[in-house]
Amino acid sequence: MSTSKSKYVYSFGGGKAEGRSDMKELLGGKGANLAEMSSIGIPVPPGFTITTEVCHEYYEGGKKLPEAVKPQVEEALLHVEKIAGKKFGDPKDPLLVSVRSGAALSMPGMMNTILNLGLNDESVEGLAAKTDNPRFAYDGYRRLIDMFGSTAMGVDHEHFEHELTALKKEKNVKLDTDLSAADLKELVKRYKAVYSKHVGEGFPQDPKDQLWKAIMAVFNSWMGNKAVQYRRIERITGLKGTAVNVQAMVFGNTGGDSGTGVAFTRDPNTGEDVFYGDYLINAQGEDVVAGIRTPEPISKLHEEMPKVYGQLMDIRKKLETHYKEMQDIEFTVEKGTLYMLQTRTGKRTGSSAVRIAVEMVKEGLIDEKTALKRVNPDSLNHLLLPQLDPKSKVKAVATGIAASPGAACGKVILSADAAVAHHEAHPNDAILLVRKETSPEDVAGMHLAKGILTATGGKASHAAVVARGWGKPCVVGCDAIHIDEKKGQITIGDQVVKVGDYLTINGTNGDVMVGQVPTVDPSISGHFAELMGWADKTRTLKVRTNADAPADAKKAREFGAEGIGLCRTEHMFFEGQRIVDMRKMILADDTAGREKALSALEPYQREDFVGIFEAMDGLPVTIRLLDPPLHEFLPHDEAGQSEVAKQLGIPVEKVKRRVEQLHEANPMLGLRGCRLPIKFPEIGDMQVRAILEAAIEVKKKGKSVLPEIMIPLVGTVEELAILKKRALAVAEQVFKKHGTKVEFLIGTMIEIPRAALTADQIAEEAEFFSFGTNDLTQLTFGFSRDDIGSFMPAYVDQKILPVDPFQTLDQKGVGQLVEVGTQRGRKARKEKHDQHLKVGICGEHGGDPESVVFCHKVGMDYVSCSPFRVPIARLAAAQAALGNVSRDK
Ligand code: ADP
Ligand code: MG
Ligand code: MG
Repeated sequence: MSTSKSKYVYSFGGGKAEGRSDMKELLGGKGANLAEMSSIGIPVPPGFTITTEVCHEYYEGGKKLPEAVKPQVEEALLHVEKIAGKKFGDPKDPLLVSVRSGAALSMPGMMNTILNLGLNDESVEGLAAKTDNPRFAYDGYRRLIDMFGSTAMGVDHEHFEHELTALKKEKNVKLDTDLSAADLKELVKRYKAVYSKHVGEGFPQDPKDQLWKAIMAVFNSWMGNKAVQYRRIERITGLKGTAVNVQAMVFGNTGGDSGTGVAFTRDPNTGEDVFYGDYLINAQGEDVVAGIRTPEPISKLHEEMPKVYGQLMDIRKKLETHYKEMQDIEFTVEKGTLYMLQTRTGKRTGSSAVRIAVEMVKEGLIDEKTALKRVNPDSLNHLLLPQLDPKSKVKAVATGIAASPGAACGKVILSADAAVAHHEAHPNDAILLVRKETSPEDVAGMHLAKGILTATGGKASHAAVVARGWGKPCVVGCDAIHIDEKKGQITIGDQVVKVGDYLTINGTNGDVMVGQVPTVDPSISGHFAELMGWADKTRTLKVRTNADAPADAKKAREFGAEGIGLCRTEHMFFEGQRIVDMRKMILADDTAGREKALSALEPYQREDFVGIFEAMDGLPVTIRLLDPPLHEFLPHDEAGQSEVAKQLGIPVEKVKRRVEQLHEANPMLGLRGCRLPIKFPEIGDMQVRAILEAAIEVKKKGKSVLPEIMIPLVGTVEELAILKKRALAVAEQVFKKHGTKVEFLIGTMIEIPRAALTADQIAEEAEFFSFGTNDLTQLTFGFSRDDIGSFMPAYVDQKILPVDPFQTLDQKGVGQLVEVGTQRGRKARKEKHDQHLKVGICGEHGGDPESVVFCHKVGMDYVSCSPFRVPIARLAAAQAALGNVSRDK
């Protein structure tokens, strides 16, 4: 229970304040910053804040206010009257106030602000006489009845709007501003009737009555449906409640020498150090953002009100010097006098965040560490991919799940094969691949496309994962599109888009647009490079990349990758002649046949590795031996199978039979990973030989190479021991044949829970561990990554899981296996071989900032992620090293 000594109300105004900006928990964001501005000499209309503690006690006490609140509010109101030189409820010259909600975090669903509170039938006349402006007075009064009725008393705003429209029609005018004082007086009468009808009593004439009803309405809105739902969805917990701000009104709507505006102290899109905002002359409150009239750019205020503009520029500087952050402000000018009504940290794009952070360091406002902590790593995406031209105004016709950011525009193609064919015929055409979903067979076509759009699938679907890996824009789960491959068209609502027509997707927000929407290329500006330099100085975790091709490896190095953490070899078998030889290998009857096919594949592998080693120029390259089940390389449809039969000159029955043989109840748990070379050792031998011969070739050119051979899906040390022994034997042969040696490591992927638990044994054989947290997550949860879409939203919604565990590592469960595996493996390696066991991660999680922080804490040596996430991981690793990162979500 509270004591009578509790302080429930904090005053501000007249150059002083009882609150401070660091009291947001207690005063809410708005209240804390109003107080702060008042005390640093910025003109703020006087007022007071009723604390969030009152809101808390109100609900604790069964919706009763603590007793001490009332007298404290009375006292604070007297204080406002003294500063303003007007009395609340004075019929001749009334003090009017606004009542504004405000929790520690801004959130939708809270009560909207009520302006002009304190007016009644009598004082509206007083105000009209005092200001000699009856139009202004009646306009204020009718707005109050509307706002008070709709926000505090639950009357539908439409009822008021209806009266306004009717009156304008009767008076034959278009704009609200065309109504005369007499018209507005009439409108007040009608609004009051609406109010009585819906509330069941007249509009309160006692200003104190108005004030208390408004205050209570703010507290009640804290538990309103919208607010509760918002906090649930955004997982906002631990807030005490909302504060209530009561503040003397200032009027931007008294004529041509008044106005209201909103601004950012720097450009929130580019970060440029320019004043950025809008204003409207002769307007009140939300008019600027409500779109009633088109506002003017702030630079124009310089001409219209030079003195006020000068003051605003001073305040802009003062606020930034004080808060050391870009601010988002609201102001009002009343008869040439400027007042500030709000300031808060401004929201911004990724590019803007980077530029502001770096420039603020240069200006001496913040240090490098603070700059690093300020930028949300995920927001760097904005700097790394082509974006829709912000000037374009093309509307989206459908919206799906934003799976891989960036914008892409191209001609619609409905299958991967068609994409390949189209590309061969028109190599310069931009292709947008549109499919129900994608599968591993589609990768060649997917690779050629500028962007990928699927009708089904979630953020972890094949299309999404592959596209993200390449940094290719992708929208998935867009169920509004209907694909008709036969007719060669898609329909979106009533729009038909034919194959070859242009379609544009925005993978950053999931939008789909018909036609060619212009895009702009990313510019990796000097600021970005500078921030990355600071990140590299700060972090201890290394950042590698997942790359299967020399071009990806090169891109990743440009983005700062310090090696390859995962080079998957299977993608090398999908293109052109390679897939034919691969299929020959799979369809071979015996070892000799397989070896023959493999020897055809070997040169391709070697070439690819040479390209990658050269691109990485001495940096470590982890190459994973073939991982997927073999049936993924064979077509499952009849037409495809007969084509393969024809191509290889074998009966179609044989192809069919082989596909059936290879078919598995759960292909992800079947004959794949290390199980393949255990059963067909010649596959592994060929790959090891290709790797080492490529390494020798590159070494002979005078470049250094550091191959790390990674054996996937190991669950027992015996598997690894057998395969390692074979690999070493192959190495010996190769070295003998070429008369030279290269350094290399043999290690394993830890992706089976048993491997993590028996890491001590496995580390006796393995020279490095790489946690394959995609599979580790699948196997720990028993979820299949490709079909979690059907229940994951429900799981997250019902708080069974905080987030999709394929996006952010599940630290509680999967994380334990990672931790245990790392500790046991490191300890055993040290004891048995006196060596440091190199540990990294190569799942999608390696590019997720939160998971990167976890990897840092576990003590990993590196994280590995797709090329386009390398800068994100570098920044996240720096933040992890700095500790205590608290970022806005
Ligand atoms: P929101 O949180 O939705 O921005 P605000 O409380 O900031 O709500 O107010 C809504 C509008 O009313 C803003 O334009 C604000 O500047 C204006 N406003 C609030 N209080 C006053 C006041 N005392 N005098 C003049 N305008 C005000
Ligand atoms: Mg505001
Ligand atoms: Mg795996």
